[in-house]
Amino acid sequence: MLFDLTGKTALITGAGSGIGRAIAMLYAGHGASVWVGDLDAERGNAVAAEIAGAGDRAAFVAMDVTDLASVRAAVAAAVAADGRLDVMVNNAGIGMVGGVTETEPDDFHRLMRVNVDGVYHGCKAAVEQMITQDRPGGALVNIASVAGQIAVPRRFAYGATKGAVISMTQSVAMDYVDRGIRCNCICPGTVETPFVDGYIQRYHAGEEDETRKALHARQPIGRMGRPDDIAPMALYLASDEAGYVTGAAMVLDGGWTAR
Ligand code: NAP
Repeated sequence: MLFDLTGKTALITGAGSGIGRAIAMLYAGHGASVWVGDLDAERGNAVAAEIAGAGDRAAFVAMDVTDLASVRAAVAAAVAADGRLDVMVNNAGIGMVGGVTETEPDDFHRLMRVNVDGVYHGCKAAVEQMITQDRPGGALVNIASVAGQIAVPRRFAYGATKGAVISMTQSVAMDYVDRGIRCNCICPGTVETPFVDGYIQRYHAGEEDETRKALHARQPIGRMGRPDDIAPMALYLASDEAGYVTGAAMVLDGGWTAR
């Protein structure tokens, strides 16, 4: 089978919802032992239970990506149970809307803590573990955004964090290429998840339908992405079939950045 993850252990941050949840389900369906990392125990446990109900392997692990000790503890939990870590998906992230004059320091730093510190912590904890393992190698998949590549209007802080994710991806890829560790990122366009629902409720209350239409139209392909449009790329990047791929930013955006 192509993209077989049998015998591999994967930890996915923010896997209780949206894109992370879809990645967790797909990885488990392809044989991985999946660790569903999230702040939210109820949702994380529900995803793990759904996977287990389908006969695949998953467990919830509570984690806050803003806290390095918490991320290391999640990696340690996976390693204690499975003996190793093969794949780390740094997916947890949050958004906000505003140009630079509208962005207050507290908001800017809150985004930095989750989206940048979170990916830094995930890369650090995962690589520290992977370089100690007898069978060398490992794959890191970071979730960036097209907002890290182009100036999406009024996404000053969000774009800055995602640009940093792309840069961290390249850096980790080059620094550990000799150890057989690959590190790539995915740059989605707009994807219909609770993240987008929250954005609409917060910034466009009372104009939900028009806003949703505009969000669909932003992608030349005519619709927002779905978590299931993104998860297969995360599967590919985690798999041995992607053995020649490192330091890459894979754009899945319905044509948005080609316009
Ligand atoms: P989502 O549905 O909101 O899921 C994100 C998950 O991450 C939630 O379960 C959230 O838990 C969790 N999380 C937040 N802060 C955390 C922390 N400190 N530690 C651990 N978990 C935490 O979002 P999504 O749309 O799937 O987004 C996933 C990733 O894709 C993010 O990095 C996002 O920036 C990126 N992305 C999304 C889009 C899009 O249009 N949806 C486009 C491009 C990139 P709580 O709900 O409890 O906070």
